[in-house]
Amino acid sequence: MALQVVDHPLAQHLLTSLRDRSTPPPVFRALTRRLTLAVVMEATRDLPTGSRRVETPLEETEGTELAMPIVAIPILRAGLGMLEAVTDTFPGVSVGYIGLERDERTLQPSSYYEKLPPLAGGHVLLLDPMLATGGSAARACSSILAHGPASLRMVCIVAAPEGVKVLEEAHPEVRIFAASLDRELNDLGYILPGIGDFGDRLFGTES
Ligand code: URA
Repeated sequence: MALQVVDHPLAQHLLTSLRDRSTPPPVFRALTRRLTLAVVMEATRDLPTGSRRVETPLEETEGTELAMPIVAIPILRAGLGMLEAVTDTFPGVSVGYIGLERDERTLQPSSYYEKLPPLAGGHVLLLDPMLATGGSAARACSSILAHGPASLRMVCIVAAPEGVKVLEEAHPEVRIFAASLDRELNDLGYILPGIGDFGDRLFGTES
C-alpha cells in the first residue's frame, strides 16, 4: 500500500485535539502546524542528501545537507494551513499553489488556479489535510507529474480508504502520508469519524 500512517504518540495526541469539535480556530491552526510537521518528518525521511565540509569553532568536519530543490504545493484552501510548517522547516523550499473546484456538469475536479515553480528534478510535497474521495488529489498529482518531478509525496492529516484507493490506482508512484486512515466517507463526502470541514475549522468560516 502506498499509504503510510504516522502513529507516533505525539501525532496521535495532536490529531485527537484536532478532531475535538470544541477546539477553536486559533488552536486548530496551531495544532495543524504541529501535526503537519510530524507527518512531514516521516514523509521526508528518505529525501536524498549530499555532503558538505563545515568548519566548527574547533575543527573542520563532514556535514550533511538536503539535496534541493524541495517544492511544497498546498491545494487551496485547506492545504494553506499546512504550508507554514513546511516553509519553516525546509530552507530553500519553493512553493506552488493549486486551486480545484468541482465542475457541476462533469462532477470532475477542474483547476481554477495553478501557479507552479519549476518542478523538473524536484522533490514535491503535495499538501491537503483531508484525502476524501481522492478526485482532487489525483487531479493535482496529474498536473504535477506532467512537469517531471524526481518524487511526489502526498502529505495529509486524515485519509479515507476510498481516497487512498482512487489515488493509488491513478498514480501508484505517489506515496501518501497521513496521521490516520479513517473508517469511510459519508454520503456528503465527509470523512468519518474525521475532523469536519477542515477549511472551515481552520479559517473560522463554520456556519
Ligand atoms: N474535506 C474536509 O474538509 N473534510 C472532510 O471530511 C472531507 C473533505
